[in-house]
Amino acid sequence: MLLRPLIAALAVSCACSVSNADSPFEGYRFIDLSHAFNEHTIYWPTETGFRLEPDFVGETEGGWHYESFTLHTPEHGGTHLDAPIHFAKGGWSTDEVPLSSLITPAVVIDVRELTADNADYQLTTAAIEQWEAQHGTIPEGCAVLLNTGYAAYWPDRERYMGTSKRGTEGVAALHFPGFSLEAATFLLSERRIVAVGLDTPSIDFGQSKDFLVHRYLYQHNVVGYENVGNLNDLPAKGSYIIALPMKVEGGSGGPLRIVALVPLAS
Ligand SMILES: [Zn+2]
Repeated sequence: MLLRPLIAALAVSCACSVSNADSPFEGYRFIDLSHAFNEHTIYWPTETGFRLEPDFVGETEGGWHYESFTLHTPEHGGTHLDAPIHFAKGGWSTDEVPLSSLITPAVVIDVRELTADNADYQLTTAAIEQWEAQHGTIPEGCAVLLNTGYAAYWPDRERYMGTSKRGTEGVAALHFPGFSLEAATFLLSERRIVAVGLDTPSIDFGQSKDFLVHRYLYQHNVVGYENVGNLNDLPAKGSYIIALPMKVEGGSGGPLRIVALVPLAS
């Protein structure tokens, strides 16, 4: 099992290389699943965007170069974590999510063919069963990542969200794929997964009005990853993810650096 040496390695601060035979990551490559944050980063139509405000950039009186900025960002935009408290009273806040929910094996369900002509696609239990017939039962304690193909549209707001309108008018015009309540119920009650993620702005599909997937999963302290990138580079199974948000006390989510460890053989 890779996770024990992985966690031990994370406890010490080192620049680990997969080409180093002594590395616990030997045999794996790293894939960055986060989009960079900048002025093009996509946020919900009712949210403001990301802003990096310079406090000082230039040469100090002492003669050395110095840069420092203040970050301005809503929690829920760009590649980010949804902490369970986002939709469930009493659920974990960002700082309370245990590392065992954030550093896990991952499976990827590729639904690109199904979303190609259906922006309102919702993952079905039948699609999960089809995946399992090919790859085996989804293991307990893992993250299920949905590859809808929408990361290819990033950061084109109109194609990615179905609209470039803002405010409540923009929310009404959202079209992108997500999980269904049926699939979420199966994944939690039958497979005991601990996290879900995907390459769209929300785990509920764009036209959802009641956010049933958020409400159901977060009530059970499952965590969510939204606006994830580069899922095409992950195999259906066999990889691990490390998803670490800023540890904001009482937060309901936050900007996320999420990376995958992918077996070289895959
Ligand atoms: Zn969110």
